[in-house]
Amino acid sequence: MKGEIFYYPSNSQIEVVAVRLFTTVAGLRSHLKHQRQNKTIGLVPTMGALHIGHQSLIKSAKTETDLVVVSIFVNPIQFTPTEDLQKYPRHLAQDRQLCENLGVDVIFAPSPEIMGMAEDSNTSSSEDMTRVIPPATMTSHLCGQFRPGHFTGVATIVTKLFNIINPDIAYFGEKDAQQLAIIRRIVEDLNIPVEIRGCPTIREPSGLAYSSRNQYLTPQQQEQASILYQSLQRAKQAFLGGERETASLIKIVEQELSSSDPINIQYVNLVDPKTLTPLTRVDHAGLLAIAAYLGSTRLIDNIILLNRKPIIAIDGPAGAGKSTVTRRVAQELGLMYLDTGAMYRAITWLVLNSNINLEDEAAIAELVSQVNLELTPKGIKINGEDVTEAIRTLQVTAHVSAISAMESVRQALVKQQQSYGQKGGIVAEGRDIGTHVFPNAELKIFLTASVQERARRRLQDLIESGQGDITVNQLEQDIQLRDYRDSHRKFAPLQKATDAIEIITDGLTIEDVTAKIITLYREVVK
Ligand code: AMP
Repeated sequence: MKGEIFYYPSNSQIEVVAVRLFTTVAGLRSHLKHQRQNKTIGLVPTMGALHIGHQSLIKSAKTETDLVVVSIFVNPIQFTPTEDLQKYPRHLAQDRQLCENLGVDVIFAPSPEIMGMAEDSNTSSSEDMTRVIPPATMTSHLCGQFRPGHFTGVATIVTKLFNIINPDIAYFGEKDAQQLAIIRRIVEDLNIPVEIRGCPTIREPSGLAYSSRNQYLTPQQQEQASILYQSLQRAKQAFLGGERETASLIKIVEQELSSSDPINIQYVNLVDPKTLTPLTRVDHAGLLAIAAYLGSTRLIDNIILLNRKPIIAIDGPAGAGKSTVTRRVAQELGLMYLDTGAMYRAITWLVLNSNINLEDEAAIAELVSQVNLELTPKGIKINGEDVTEAIRTLQVTAHVSAISAMESVRQALVKQQQSYGQKGGIVAEGRDIGTHVFPNAELKIFLTASVQERARRRLQDLIESGQGDITVNQLEQDIQLRDYRDSHRKFAPLQKATDAIEIITDGLTIEDVTAKIITLYREVVK
């Protein structure tokens, strides 16, 4: 029976939990209230008819959070009167099976009535409901100008879902880039306590982005639709070749699209990816986006054009040699080493020197949100004071782990790290650099090694520093425990980005690994 907890019979310890489906706010809230405890909740909002694109969002949520909720709701208020609300594909049984296979914990599939959006009811009509209206500057271009009210409908339903579920992280596809930028802005403007994760667009081998609406296309149209991505790629080639003018880049896309008879362009726009305001040229970053009709099916696609030096993001478990390798790679390539560890240490130093109780997270949050951190060629300054040496003391080492596990500390530092990344040209290491801090990094490496190898290296280090009175077995156990904790911690859990290249360093020297990364980098920037 679905929706129940199964226990394997007899003495087996394995517990299999089937996906629970809720159709009411009360049922869902009650379930989450009991299940939440100390767990993190990941939310994947969808309109159902789940495909491979949705699956990738769900998989990211599964790796990052403890309880995954997928909402399936064909939101009437985001459809304009002439759009396909009635015929939008609905396959709840199939979606449920897919969610079950992916290990989703909860599906929330309410009716429009439950969401206060019934068309014909006096008590819960969508007509006079409260709505969340995104800034006009963000809705007056791209899809917004052709779909009046659409983003108000999206903003309203997403805000409702956030309030009902209180997720820690919510996952959205970059395919709907305008939606993603608007949701990020709403969360910031309304101080909604959720992290927004943008996930890369998943495409068919032809380049066509997966979409529930692809079901409307005939096989021949599916082939024809790949021209959307091809035209964007053409513009990207020109951009990489030095073209920066919006008019020229848009013309390249339009010309390519016009070469296909059945394609009817609705718009080709080039805007700032964050504010969505039109650009005349791309100095730093641009969102190049298309909407076009193929028959009566409306398709959208986009790419980000980045005019900055590349970023290398190196993640991986403790003891795989990340910091040494990262420093070497930065040196050899003449890039900046974004020493995130030093940043966390500097904050720890400041806390220790501020007479703040180390358990007083609120006071630490106040302190950190006003801090001025500056990485210098030789080290690091905090509030103008050079602390390069001071952050290496045993006292800082003893407390850095606890301080950096605090959400407020992490949020403040991720912002700082991202601002360093704006111009590119950096190498950074950590646990969620490729997944969260720099999801658009040109090269993502996941540096790892077997537990045995890491234990062996650690023992070697300890022997060299005269502290070798511990067994390899003990070290292996410690490392396993730390890996588990690192991958399950609430903030910045260790994880491999789906597009990261894994390097297993067993049997490799620091020089081998550095050389490997540099070769990969040259591939990327060639
Ligand atoms: P929808 O069901 O169309 O509202 O989509 C639900 C979520 O899945 C949105 O955040 C979309 O951006 C995302 N999504 C849809 N298609 C793709 C795709 N091909 N790749 C990645 N994400 C996608």
